[in-house]
Amino acid sequence: MSNSILEQEVSKRRTFAIISHPDAGKTTITEKVLLFGNALQKAGTVKGKKSGQHAKSDWMEMEKERGISVTTSVMQFPYRGRLINLLDTPGHEDFSEDTYRTLTAVDSCLMIIDSAKGVETRTVKLMEVTRLRDTPIITFMNKIDRDIRDPIDLMDEVEEVLKIACAPITWPIGMGKELKGVYHILRDEVILYKSGQGHMIQDSRVIKGINNPEVDEALGDYAEQLREEMELVQGAANKFDYELFMAGELTPVYFGTALGNFGVDHVLDGLVEWAPKPQSRITEQRTVKPNEANFTGFIFKIQANMDPKHRDRIAFMRVCSGKYSKGMKMKHVRLNKDVSISDAVTFMAGDRTQTEEAYPGDIIGLHNHGTIQIGDTFTQGELLKFTGIPNFAPEMFRRIRLKDPLKQKQLQKGLIQLSEEGAVQVFRPQRSNDLIVGAVGVLQFDVVVHRLRTEYKVDAIYENISVATARWVDCEDPRKLEEFKKKAWDNIALDGGNNLTYIAPTMVNLRLAQERYPDIIFRETREH
Ligand code: GDP
Repeated sequence: MSNSILEQEVSKRRTFAIISHPDAGKTTITEKVLLFGNALQKAGTVKGKKSGQHAKSDWMEMEKERGISVTTSVMQFPYRGRLINLLDTPGHEDFSEDTYRTLTAVDSCLMIIDSAKGVETRTVKLMEVTRLRDTPIITFMNKIDRDIRDPIDLMDEVEEVLKIACAPITWPIGMGKELKGVYHILRDEVILYKSGQGHMIQDSRVIKGINNPEVDEALGDYAEQLREEMELVQGAANKFDYELFMAGELTPVYFGTALGNFGVDHVLDGLVEWAPKPQSRITEQRTVKPNEANFTGFIFKIQANMDPKHRDRIAFMRVCSGKYSKGMKMKHVRLNKDVSISDAVTFMAGDRTQTEEAYPGDIIGLHNHGTIQIGDTFTQGELLKFTGIPNFAPEMFRRIRLKDPLKQKQLQKGLIQLSEEGAVQVFRPQRSNDLIVGAVGVLQFDVVVHRLRTEYKVDAIYENISVATARWVDCEDPRKLEEFKKKAWDNIALDGGNNLTYIAPTMVNLRLAQERYPDIIFRETREH
């Protein structure tokens, strides 16, 4: 393939995820974004959690019963000459590990904030994760059709709490019932809002120039107020700076209402203009550029039962360089094995289709029969390993036990496979035959028991156990590590991938251990 075709395909793509606190409007904005991408006929069909409709991406009974979305799916659609890959993340914070790993597969993020509430806890945590890679962030202040907080206050809060400078691109005119529209600072345009048009793409009236008399006609008293506010804002607020944006240090800020489908197109325009095309990725060996001719990719998520009829497991791969074409041969680097892949799938607004070709920035799904793990690298022969796909120390622990003790082997196998998928973490203490399950959120426990029953035919139950946290341990000096293993034997366990861990019954115990063994590194995250 000619290099210029590859370069063109790379330049076209924008791969991003939405980060937000529950209820800030992620689902609603996703629907509107898909409406602009012509990927949906009508808004309101992404997830039926409130309307009771079954959503295409909701796959597990549990999700339907509880009205939550556990999964990460991918939506691809064209917008203004670009091809957008929007990676959806689980709505429920109990599945936040999946979200964190999904954030390693994007090049930028759209942060949604409820303008009545400001910065909320989940957003703070997600921003910490995007910091690991200095991912560029675009901000949408949502729900301006409600009584919102003062826009300057909101931006101050983002700057203070999230430690990122704000550069307003649009500015709200009025709010709540009195919402008149927004002023686009860069375009010097007043864009008027019409209520009740949320289900469609609107023909908004645009007035060029803030001093245009038409602005006074359309806005009445709000016109003078806007001009005064803009003088203040332009004196005090940051100007958009591309370099700072790319370094993750400054975010362009848009105001709007996802429900009213107003302002969503402004933020999308900003995204296609500024958000980075697929970026280089780091491997243990070298940096891989997207326009290298040879194909590479890594697995950031494994999802089971996407199609319950086929009981299949899909490994989600981010393409990092070169081109995937149907039937090609790839090297599964960890196994050092060549595989022919002819049945990769692409996801389009919930529908799956066979992938004919895919380029850097795209996400493709590989059918996984137990040989693919999170973090695996695929290449066209080169022995590379992509880095930066994290495991997070779980915060909740239970002992898991069988109802029928004869099935111990099945249970072990199931747990190890589920841990390789990243559904849960498993720890095997050295001093007993216990199996400890660790999770970041409590619903993960339910998913594991459910899947053990349906996929591995074992009935398991949980018992409480006094474990406060786990740390992956390591030491540069193998002799000291051996000594530590002996002395701390009662607290040593192996995780699902046979990595050495320290199981702490209390946080105080962990602190004491850290003081007592200063040469040992206790890690809160582990890379796959
Ligand atoms: P998610 O949990 O972040 O996916 O949030 P949803 O998109 O499900 O939205 C949560 C609630 O806020 C729903 O009842 C939405 O209808 C509502 N909502 C979302 N965007 C807006 C908005 O711009 N204005 C108003 N008034 N409500 C909104």
